[in-house]
Amino acid sequence: MDSGLSRKIGEGNDVKFWSENWLGSGTLKDKFGRLFCLSTQQHHTVNQMGTWVNGSWLWELHWRRILLDRENIMVTELLNSISSCTLSEGVLDDWIWTKEEGGHFSVKSAYLLLQGEVSEPDNQCFRKLWAVKAPSNVLALAWKVFLNRIQSKVNLSRRGILLDPSQILCPFCAQAEETTTHLIFTCIHSWHVWHRVLQWLGISTVLPEEGKNHFLSFQDSYNARDRKKGMSFIWLSTVWFLWHLRNSIIFQGEVADFSLALDTIQFKSWLWLKGKAKGFYFSSYEWASNPLICLGSL
Ligand SMILES: [Zn+2]
Repeated sequence: MDSGLSRKIGEGNDVKFWSENWLGSGTLKDKFGRLFCLSTQQHHTVNQMGTWVNGSWLWELHWRRILLDRENIMVTELLNSISSCTLSEGVLDDWIWTKEEGGHFSVKSAYLLLQGEVSEPDNQCFRKLWAVKAPSNVLALAWKVFLNRIQSKVNLSRRGILLDPSQILCPFCAQAEETTTHLIFTCIHSWHVWHRVLQWLGISTVLPEEGKNHFLSFQDSYNARDRKKGMSFIWLSTVWFLWHLRNSIIFQGEVADFSLALDTIQFKSWLWLKGKAKGFYFSSYEWASNPLICLGSL
């Protein structure tokens, strides 16, 4: 919903550089979390992040330490994202609603934004997702996967941020372009992770390749209604694992190690279930060794 609200920059005195959505595509803190951590200007307004030199605006970004090569690449991306924005001296900052002409908020456009102009079966999928009591950042990640809004390399290249074709390869296999579907569902490595999860659950099925249908089919793998609730947690923790592994490879230079995939997915889903699901009193060991019995108790 916040993505529909944006700041219209005037002088930039009233808008926080890192934490407000002044570019219309989310906050810089969310998009460049690592750089935000390294910034010595975390609470600065846009106006405090540079100076006017001979009538031109010059950005001045300061960091806690000398940046590594890959962090400098991220700074270039950051500067690319903010270069289109021009500050106007003597003009006050304002709020605009980006989904309607003229910038005025309407319930209809907010609804369409939330639902992504979806059909009834898709609607059902979103309703089921919002019903899961998992952490909200995890639900938001799944929502972005459904709507193809994660910052996959292909999505970034469509927005002109990654230009070199070699930069958009999947960090897991380096064989195919990193689309949302490839990264989370069809990459051979991701597919193996899903396969291991299904094996753990004792399910033999073929899951669709598209996010929403994948989620619904995964939930429906057990007919028993009570087990579906727990299945959503497992689906979410698998998506969460793949996305975080991908980010640690890209941003922290870690190697693609899938050996702990199942352990991590089991542990995360157990943690969320334990925190949120009534009647779930099992130990992590019981959960890992007999998920069926545990799911049946929900
Ligand atoms: Zn791949």
